[in-house]
Amino acid sequence: MKSTPHWLHVSTLLVSGLACISAWAADWSDADLAAAAALRDQAMSGTQAFDHVSSLVTEVGPRFAGSAGDAASTRWALNRMGTAGLSHIRTQDVLVPRWIRGTCEISITAPFPQKLVAVSLGGSIGTDDEGIEADVLPVASLDALNALRPAEVKGKIVFIDQRMPRTRDVSGYASTVPIRAQGPSAAAKLGAVALVIRSVGTSPERVAHTGNMTYRPDAPRIPAFAISNPDADVLGRQLKGDKPVRMRLHSTARELPPAWSANVIGEIFGTDRSSEIVLIGAHLDSWDLGHGAIDDGAGVAIVLEAARLIAKSNRKPSRTIRVVLFANEEFGLSGAREYAKSIGEEFAKHVVAFEADLGQGPAWRLESRVAPEALPAIAQIHKVLEPLNVSLGGNETTGAPDLRPLREAGLPVLDIGMDATKYFDVHHTVNDTLAQVDAKVLDQSVAAYVATIWLAANKQGDFGRLPAQPANP
Ligand code: ZN
Ligand code: ZN
Repeated sequence: MKSTPHWLHVSTLLVSGLACISAWAADWSDADLAAAAALRDQAMSGTQAFDHVSSLVTEVGPRFAGSAGDAASTRWALNRMGTAGLSHIRTQDVLVPRWIRGTCEISITAPFPQKLVAVSLGGSIGTDDEGIEADVLPVASLDALNALRPAEVKGKIVFIDQRMPRTRDVSGYASTVPIRAQGPSAAAKLGAVALVIRSVGTSPERVAHTGNMTYRPDAPRIPAFAISNPDADVLGRQLKGDKPVRMRLHSTARELPPAWSANVIGEIFGTDRSSEIVLIGAHLDSWDLGHGAIDDGAGVAIVLEAARLIAKSNRKPSRTIRVVLFANEEFGLSGAREYAKSIGEEFAKHVVAFEADLGQGPAWRLESRVAPEALPAIAQIHKVLEPLNVSLGGNETTGAPDLRPLREAGLPVLDIGMDATKYFDVHHTVNDTLAQVDAKVLDQSVAAYVATIWLAANKQGDFGRLPAQPANP
């Protein structure tokens, strides 16, 4: 049985409230506000977003950077953008690092033999043919690891047993992900022979979460793995006992020479301000374990469908709306960096950017990073999203990952926060499949996107400019 979400019933309330909103809003005409509300309500009545994800995972499947699936996804995106009615559709070549997962086997060998559910972290080296067997040294966090002396770590397999908290926004992930990104080199610098982490993910099932890691140039390279939460629970309990715990690791992960991938870009031309750009993005690549339906097939579908609704409507935006489906977000932000490098002086013509990369939704919070004088306009956009049950957040968002190079150069960003409460149950796992995607939830996310895109593309003034931030290494 289907239940109708209550935001469906309240979505009509806004139209009657438009007249009083527009009294204090000089950023948009009544007609633009009404068009945004109409696009929003149209999306709520049903979109093709689910069909986009379904097509991507059925016809392309996993699309890890540089793989055959990655190349197929470029062709798929070119096609879909054409059908969606976008113009000036093109690819932008992007060189991507290439890594092969190979096989991965982890067992506890003492106090008694037991196989664990594990995956290699993205970018990890493999082991040699014999594998690695050593005592396991548990640590509670990256800080606890960094506080150890080399004599305590040398020759050990370090196990970081830090559990990711479940949160509605991305904060639970953000506070835990350093164990994955920085853990391998931190352990290696102290003489560890390998690193095993509790998965950076919230799945209570026996699935392990992969994700990117990077080796520091000043540390030896050691193999790095994640084990499922239930396996980490058992291992953690065994390590609290008085018997030594030993582990055996074997992996054939390896690096290959870089390969070519591509950003796929399409536009809806603006009318009177066509040289000004509102950028909306998602990433086309996915991890290799699942089908990339949630990460980031859902984001691809949301931005494609929002653009399609505008392209097929009888009103044209004032500014140009540019859809960028980025290459290789997962394994090093290659597409985002290439895009930012390639735009040169056109950077000044970018007005604002936002990206869908936190699953299917529902959208629940609008955040921003805009100049202070643009905050009343953010409040106005929020008024249009409010019937969708979207709240207004702060002005300190970092936006989604692919926006990083643009944001660091001072471009304002918006962030339509997706409810991530369950997202990290499937994120970067074998369970990232179409079974996780709900068409109705996607429609609500499209509604939030399409209204926001329309308003950004028709706003009278811009969103200001922010001071450039020092680039992170
Ligand atoms: Zn993603
Ligand atoms: Zn991801």
